[in-house]
Amino acid sequence: VTEEEARALIAMGEGQTIEFKETTATLRKGIKTLAAFGSRDEGGHLFIGVTDAGGIVPFQRARNAEEKWANEIKGNVLSMTTGEPLLPQINSFGNPGFSVISVDGGTDTGPYIAYGRRFERVGKSTHEVQMDYRQLARAFNQHIYDADAAEPLAYRFCERCGNPKLKRSSALDPDHDRMYHFIECSECGWSEWTE
Ligand SMILES: [Zn+2]
Repeated sequence: VTEEEARALIAMGEGQTIEFKETTATLRKGIKTLAAFGSRDEGGHLFIGVTDAGGIVPFQRARNAEEKWANEIKGNVLSMTTGEPLLPQINSFGNPGFSVISVDGGTDTGPYIAYGRRFERVGKSTHEVQMDYRQLARAFNQHIYDADAAEPLAYRFCERCGNPKLKRSSALDPDHDRMYHFIECSECGWSEWTE
């Protein structure tokens, strides 16, 4: 976001997609909120250097501060469905100044977990929610197998160990005029076949 956009967001105040932090002292809490933002369609923005009331209190950033924040986020916030880390965009304005960490939302990639737990944004607060294992299992099944693919056995990764390197082969049985398709995991030996 640009500085103008950032200031317009601050003017809207804290809410469903906006959170203010005065300093990075509570960055861990902020990261839980980013996980909650990432789990929604709209995504959201975490500001640092802004009071709860929306006043900018310029703070001095350490060298490589943005890189450290990005690594803390990427290392601790993961998609429950894809296992990929949450990728933040970080913009800072002035030093001393203020920063905004933005994440895209998306129901394809979320929900995200932070530090192994799941969080939800309700108004201007972030709550921990119980892991919904049924939802997780459904998401896992939708992700593991590409139902839209034309090829047979359209697994994206091994059902047992998650390895994405799968060996595929086919064999024709001329006696019965049938084509068999096989898929096998190179890591754990899991296999599946179909006609
Ligand atoms: Zn495997």
